[in-house]
Amino acid sequence: MKVLGYAAQSSTSPLGLFNFERRAARSDDVVIEILYCGVCHTDLHLARNDLGFSTYPLVPGHEIVGRVLSTGADVKKFATGDIVGVGCMVDSCQHCAFCATGLEQNCLEGAVFTYNGVDRINNQTTYGGYSEKIVVSEKFILKIPSGLDLAGVAPLLCAGITTWSPLHHWNVGKGSRVAVIGLGGLGHMALKLAKALGADVTLFTRSPGKEQDARRLGADQVVISSDAQQMLAVSGQFDLIIDTVPYVHDVNPYTPTLRVGGTLVLVGYLGELKPAVNSAVLVLGGKSIAGSFIGGIAETQAMLDFCGEHGITSDIEIISIEDINDAYERVQKSDVKYRFVVDLASLKS
Ligand code: NAP
Ligand code: ZN
Ligand code: ZN
Repeated sequence: MKVLGYAAQSSTSPLGLFNFERRAARSDDVVIEILYCGVCHTDLHLARNDLGFSTYPLVPGHEIVGRVLSTGADVKKFATGDIVGVGCMVDSCQHCAFCATGLEQNCLEGAVFTYNGVDRINNQTTYGGYSEKIVVSEKFILKIPSGLDLAGVAPLLCAGITTWSPLHHWNVGKGSRVAVIGLGGLGHMALKLAKALGADVTLFTRSPGKEQDARRLGADQVVISSDAQQMLAVSGQFDLIIDTVPYVHDVNPYTPTLRVGGTLVLVGYLGELKPAVNSAVLVLGGKSIAGSFIGGIAETQAMLDFCGEHGITSDIEIISIEDINDAYERVQKSDVKYRFVVDLASLKS
């Protein structure tokens, strides 16, 4: 089917209108009219080829909320008119050891990502949510709990699950002491989710102006990471630190703030950490540096259901698709409170 979207044509070109073809629905597919799509920092990384594996044209967007337009003959879980979500993945092998345990993101044959991926059947490039419609197998579609603002739900599909998954993996609950580095899209969801799980929550930020918002979003404490005195005052405190910083940075100021046995989990930057990590703090304190990558489909549904029960959505600024390039500039400057969401109705006008 013919679909209109917004694409980057190269790593240096701004995003602009792009007409393309999506596959006809297969028997297990659902055709979704996209209502809202969040703007993740990963969209910037991939539009600009920061990671070196982008293919063009590239239609970003993996925080998708939409309405079911039609369903294939074998679709059982969804019906026309349902409000549904699509996150970072649209397929995986479904039979490897990781798929079998709900870790589709770690599929041994490679998960198929919502955009800049390759379809397992027709080998065509996948195109994301900055578009009118998407066609996805029902296995990778999420149910959206009722009663939540739909635009605010969109960022849960990536920022929500990416921060929920480590909170869950490291058993965060009442009595846990959690810190979050960076108050952006992921960071603000981490504050909300950790707070709702009952943790005592701290934000590390470079930006003194974000303190008041951080407290409203769930932080019990805010530490300005460039202030050595403030950093010293939180030595040995945290069970878990979620590091959302998107670019190369020094983790050595943070590891001393972990308690003995604590973990700093990287979810942002992909690449060599510089300066190098000082192992002494890790060895002598039995501390870990770990990584975490989005989350599986069942885990994403559990996160959405939790958000439904607790009334949690993202704090958003709604934009029209024609403002996407300006929005990217503002994300780059950490000037967004705290996620841009594209209203795809703007693509029709
Ligand atoms: P974002 O909205 O831009 O937020 C990042 C925050 O990090 C900023 O608000 C800022 O917070 C801080 N920051 C930015 N540049 C920094 C720098 N150079 N040094 C130190 N701090 C800096 O980005 P996002 O959408 O939350 O995404 C964060 C990262 O996670 C991106 O790299 C994205 O690609 C990645 N990601 C990973 C996964 C995964 O599965 N692991 C999933 C989604 C996204 P302050 O102003 O408070 O300091
Ligand atoms: Zn994302
Ligand atoms: Zn697999």
